[in-house]
Amino acid sequence: MKRINKVAVLGAGTMGARIAAHFANAGVPSYLLDIVPPEADGPARNKIAAAGLEAARKSKPAAFMEPSLARFVTVGNFEDDLKKLADVDWIIEAVVENLDLKRALLKKVEAVRKPGTIITTNTSGLPVGKIAEGFSDDFRRSWFGTHFFNPPRYMRLLELIPTPDADPALIDAVTHFCDVRLGKGVVLAKDTPNFIANRIGTFSALNVMRLMQEMSLTIEEVDALTGQAVGWPRSATFRTMDLVGLDILGHVVGNMTANVKDERSDLRLPDFFSKMLDRKLLGDKTKAGFYKKTKAGEGQEDERLALDWQTLEYRPRQKPKFPALEMAKNIEDTGARLRTLLGLDAPAPQKPDKAASLLWAALSDLWTYSANRVPEISDSIVEIDRAMRLGFNWELGPFELWDAAGLEATVARMKKEGKPVAANVEKLLAAGQKSWYTDDPKSASGRKYWQLSTESWQLVHVPAGVWSTTVAKKSNGVVKKNSGASLIDLGDGVACIEFHSKMNSLGSDIVSLINQTLKPNGPGDGFDAFVITNDATNFSVGANLMLLLMSVQEDEWDDVDLGIRQFQGMTQAIKFSPKPVVTAPFGLCLGGGTEISLHSAARQPHAELYAGLVEVGVGLLPGGGGCKEMLLRAVDSAAASRGKVSGEALAGSVEMMEAMKKAFETIATARVATSAHEARSLGFVSDADRITMNRERVLSDAKSRALELARAGYEPPVPRADIPAPGENLLAALKMGVHLMRRGDFITDYEVKLGAKIAEVLCGGNVTPGTPVSEQYILDLEREGFKSLCGEKKTQERIQFTLKTGKTLRN
Ligand code: NAD
Repeated sequence: MKRINKVAVLGAGTMGARIAAHFANAGVPSYLLDIVPPEADGPARNKIAAAGLEAARKSKPAAFMEPSLARFVTVGNFEDDLKKLADVDWIIEAVVENLDLKRALLKKVEAVRKPGTIITTNTSGLPVGKIAEGFSDDFRRSWFGTHFFNPPRYMRLLELIPTPDADPALIDAVTHFCDVRLGKGVVLAKDTPNFIANRIGTFSALNVMRLMQEMSLTIEEVDALTGQAVGWPRSATFRTMDLVGLDILGHVVGNMTANVKDERSDLRLPDFFSKMLDRKLLGDKTKAGFYKKTKAGEGQEDERLALDWQTLEYRPRQKPKFPALEMAKNIEDTGARLRTLLGLDAPAPQKPDKAASLLWAALSDLWTYSANRVPEISDSIVEIDRAMRLGFNWELGPFELWDAAGLEATVARMKKEGKPVAANVEKLLAAGQKSWYTDDPKSASGRKYWQLSTESWQLVHVPAGVWSTTVAKKSNGVVKKNSGASLIDLGDGVACIEFHSKMNSLGSDIVSLINQTLKPNGPGDGFDAFVITNDATNFSVGANLMLLLMSVQEDEWDDVDLGIRQFQGMTQAIKFSPKPVVTAPFGLCLGGGTEISLHSAARQPHAELYAGLVEVGVGLLPGGGGCKEMLLRAVDSAAASRGKVSGEALAGSVEMMEAMKKAFETIATARVATSAHEARSLGFVSDADRITMNRERVLSDAKSRALELARAGYEPPVPRADIPAPGENLLAALKMGVHLMRRGDFITDYEVKLGAKIAEVLCGGNVTPGTPVSEQYILDLEREGFKSLCGEKKTQERIQFTLKTGKTLRN
């Protein structure tokens, strides 16, 4: 397979610069080239590409996983640097969306490019084949579309658009590279206007706007109905448009209305939308779109106004009142929630409410439109579902959503109401089938889909290594389970401990499952290695604070003590388990989640990792071994640079001072890493840990790592009893730092107290520097510190506030 070691990105605008940044995230060097500004000399000739790179550096959300990764990007221009394209393996064109300009640039590229170099376009809508019409055979063999979504670091979809002349080997090479190295979900799309995700997404948005006008709904009402209620992003319809930019959507719609002739070509951008474009109400980029924030007075929260689409005036945002939505909100399962909202589970109410009417109209139209697009835009329903999940962050694609609502009942209702029904779904039902997908426990994807062209069930194909605990559970089975966690057989002697509590908060059920699994003669006995991970959005939000607060408020101090002891017992069981435990964290991994990860034999994090010891935010300190592990890391890193010296000399060294200061700040300021790279620089991930770029590969990679450790004759660490405690001098220095922070008014009086407690634990108490202490001694300090803070009123207020609002109280 062709190797991709170096790339070039042509065009350093919104997309080009961020695509280059994402290559840097994967450790791949790139050239980022753009036009030369008129009459520029010297370094100013690279000004446009440099400005693009600078914008990527500053972009929010961050385009680079760590600022220093920008070193992988070399800027240049189309006049002086085109010859450099001869030493890259892949060239990506991302200049303005204009056929003639793209072709003119590519002609120049053709002259310098080495034969066989892959060349692709990031166009969002131009016909890919047409861009390279008349180019050389070798160029056309290496030419296809790679459509990244904005922002490329975060949007998981990559639409790959083959051209008739493209070499399948090169398509395979890019597919594999984008999947494994860039972490993308690659979906094969046909060369039709707007490809898959934007074609379906644009239809859906236009249709929802049409319905909103016909039903006289407000912007807020539509957003309340088209967000989480149906498994779509919280930003729903109009907040999403504000984020994306109304001009961008306008562009995509323009391309669709100009080039698409289908049964819904009647749909147009509404007048109010065109007027918004004229008035530059483009969304967040112009600070006003469907919503607008107004600066509130001192001490008050900013207010978000909403647009009245009929008058184009802003007014205070109104909370929509839909009783049906209120009732359905608490239904966890999207399918069940949807059926309730659509009234499919119960007899239709006498007076259909607006919520049900909008959703029914929007979804039934979406289903019909999507079904009519096969095979026009994709060979099967699978690509459409995947594109909408990965490109629009829908929990379920249109066909999956349709299955969830119930195919027979919905089609029957469409017929009863005289709505059009897609021929494809009629064919499916006529073949005696009742759904688009069906379970297939033995396959890697866990399911089959109905292939319309052959009228048969086909396996949903996933590349080797793409896996989930959901599928592993179906195919291999669950060994043990309680309300918070399951032990799953992953095969080859490896088992996975999966959390599945609400937000994966860590309560006694999870603690007990881990403890039971790792103890001799427990359910984990038959396995050689373990993985701790799960399928949720977040690995874990940390300890279950509700349970802790209840014990504290009821003065059940024995329970509090027991709870911490068991938690510490769990992290120590992980660390000293004779069989390797690999934790694969991803998303939010806070407090106790990070403590579990820190104690593991190895970590296999997903690149998008938001890890932190954030206990101080709720007035506590890491009490599950987090302080101890951070101390150990500081001591070991100081020892590594200092060489062999006495414990006393080490404890008094500059290296120790620096390492301890960093560990202390990380805990005392509740630093949260914003990527696995950053987690590494904070000490949560080690240099030996490997990072997985593709979320769907985390489980397989973690299993491989666990097997690798087991097969290499894993030996657990020996509990340390010789940690040179930093002691009194460092403690004084850290406390001094805390006081200076207070003087500068950066922290509150209570935070001084919290800081001092953390410093005491980290320094091993007020002892002579270098005094050898054991891991257990530090754990005891943690436990006492944690309990004493639980007794503080301000800590209890902090916990209560966080439980209620999800935010941090700085009292
Ligand atoms: P942009 O306007 O931000 O950047 C385009 C770049 O092209 C600029 O840096 C500009 O200097 C350069 N350029 C201008 N004139 C040129 C010329 N004559 N020759 C060569 N280059 C020239 O655009 P963008 O949003 O980054 O879009 C780039 C491509 O990516 C387009 O094809 C677009 O359709 C596609 N795309 C955009 C998005 C998005 O959300 N913005 C998403 C997916 C795909």
